[in-house]
Amino acid sequence: MNLSEISPQWMHVAQGLREVQARVGRAAAGAGRKASEVILVAVSKSFPAEALRTAAACGQRHFGENYVQEARAKQDALPGLELVWHFIGPIQSNKTREIAGHFDWVHGVEREKIARRLSEQRPAGLPPLNVCIQVNVSGEASKSGVAPEDVAALAGLVSALPGLKLRGLMAIPEPGGDPRPRFRLMRELLDGLNAQGLALDTLSMGMSEDFEIAIAEGATMIRVGSAIFGKRNHVK
Ligand SMILES: *Cc1c(COP(=O)(O)O)cnc(C)c1O
Repeated sequence: MNLSEISPQWMHVAQGLREVQARVGRAAAGAGRKASEVILVAVSKSFPAEALRTAAACGQRHFGENYVQEARAKQDALPGLELVWHFIGPIQSNKTREIAGHFDWVHGVEREKIARRLSEQRPAGLPPLNVCIQVNVSGEASKSGVAPEDVAALAGLVSALPGLKLRGLMAIPEPGGDPRPRFRLMRELLDGLNAQGLALDTLSMGMSEDFEIAIAEGATMIRVGSAIFGKRNHVK
């Protein structure tokens, strides 16, 4: 860790990151997995570039953002750090070009039209955009994501788009419920797609409140915000 890059105001981010890494390690060990199988995406929405710089100085590489403009401003403020940018928010069609041009991963693909636009708009000089299909694992309690029975059709379509690389599935279980059966369903869906010949390696699931359970159920990517950066005090 390069302490000179850490502003005192964001010292708690270094601490939060250490705590989350320790929790990841315990959860992985408890599940008979290696911590290195789980990529930690630090969800930095609503926090300024200095908070991300602190996390980066502690070795954090993957950052998740929900709003294109906010993310672009932070990217411009943090050049040369070789960060990996994940777009995890809802995707509006008028934002696909910027998302395709400035992110490495997109987690919330749930419509054919959006997938096609992202593929067409991915700049030729960049590798295919890594994408996850968002699954609605909570039925009527959730508005986002593809119904489980429709995942295979969308996965087949997305995996054929040249500008995209389908990596796997993402979900946000409904708050307040038991996430474990939701995560388990995700694992079954991913296994089902792989049995049909897709080669998917990513289950993006688990947030500050439930990532240990997600890791026990097979998450390979967790998206953690408040447990690292603290409480978000404004909702955009
Ligand atoms: C905000 C957000 C997170 C992180 O939530 P925390 O509870 O702060 O860890 C993860 N995933 C998505 C899609 C989000 O919007």
